[in-house]
Amino acid sequence: MTSNPFRFFDLHVLRTERLSPSMARITLGGEDLDRFADGGRDQRFKLFLPQPGQEAPVLPDERGDGWFPAWQAQDPAVRSIMRSYTVSALRQDPLELDIDFALHGTTGGPAGRWALAARPGDRISVFGPAVADNGGVDFRPPPGTDWNLITGDETAIPAVAGILDWLPAGTPAKVWIEVAHPDDRRPIPTEADAEITWLVRDPARPDRCRQLVDAVRAAELPEGTPYAWIAGESGTVKALRRHLVSERGFDRKAVKFTGYWKLGVTEEDLIAEAIREAAEGSAAGEADEVQARAQAERNA
Ligand SMILES: Cc1cc2nc3c(=O)[nH]c(=O)nc-3n(C[C@H](O)[C@H](O)[C@H](O)COP(=O)(O)OP(=O)(O)OC[C@H]3O[C@@H](n4cnc5c(N)ncnc54)[C@H](O)[C@@H]3O)c2cc1C
Repeated sequence: MTSNPFRFFDLHVLRTERLSPSMARITLGGEDLDRFADGGRDQRFKLFLPQPGQEAPVLPDERGDGWFPAWQAQDPAVRSIMRSYTVSALRQDPLELDIDFALHGTTGGPAGRWALAARPGDRISVFGPAVADNGGVDFRPPPGTDWNLITGDETAIPAVAGILDWLPAGTPAKVWIEVAHPDDRRPIPTEADAEITWLVRDPARPDRCRQLVDAVRAAELPEGTPYAWIAGESGTVKALRRHLVSERGFDRKAVKFTGYWKLGVTEEDLIAEAIREAAEGSAAGEADEVQARAQAERNA
């Protein structure tokens, strides 16, 4: 018997849709998708992709609690490629799961390339939630929160949309989303009292980090007790967290921050780094993120 609130789902592509210059939606189906439990908000899961030339992802035989070491022990040239993604939508009738991929060029990483080339029938696997109350949801404003500060780039749009869909009507939220192209902006339905600011990246600016940080730094923030959720490129996330905690006086426990990706580093290397740092005991300022990622690798 497994205690893990996550399980493997063998799925296939039903259809693909280009949402915008930088985003593609891949809709997946599969027989046991009725057992996929979405906790809403920023519900994350693991995606397992086939290597080029393979018809299906090569997964370990061990699919219970020991799946992660078993996956690690497989030949890296053969084993499936593991990446983290967020539920964009889960529908019951018909049973469908949407994933929105930020496309970062044909020379980018395997997940972005897979999304660009995906065709109906392509097979992938997902290690996703089997119960709604699982460890893959980070957005958890504590009681007493007066307003929410939310930032992300295009990789975080599904999470931000899930959070804004979940927030109770009238909840104050100040939201900044950075995208590559003006047409990446899209309506995000919410009943929250959300002020959404879209920032379009200037490719001429070498300091990719600064645009989002500058916008938040310049903003007038509401009175009252804040809760912050920050995701996107790791350097930007760290700069924003530093600003909120050191310069704005946010309680560090009320700032949930996750590097969704890191410039110049693949997700395999990020996972290896997180596990190494967690094992060694990391620098105090980064302990939360590192431990969260290492925990995430064990659970989801
Ligand atoms: C909890 C969580 C949830 C996530 N949810 C989503 C989601 O719903 N949708 C989504 O699109 N992404 C999401 N991400 C981010 C996604 O996992 C990473 O972007 C991942 O690195 C993509 O894998 P890849 O194989 O394309 O690139 P990798 O092989 O991991 O990296 C290859 C190169 O591409 C660069 N790179 C990676 N991502 C980007 C990017 N977005 N823009 C520019 N360069 C990049 C890396 O720096 C590296 O140099 C999530 C990440 C986490 C941790």
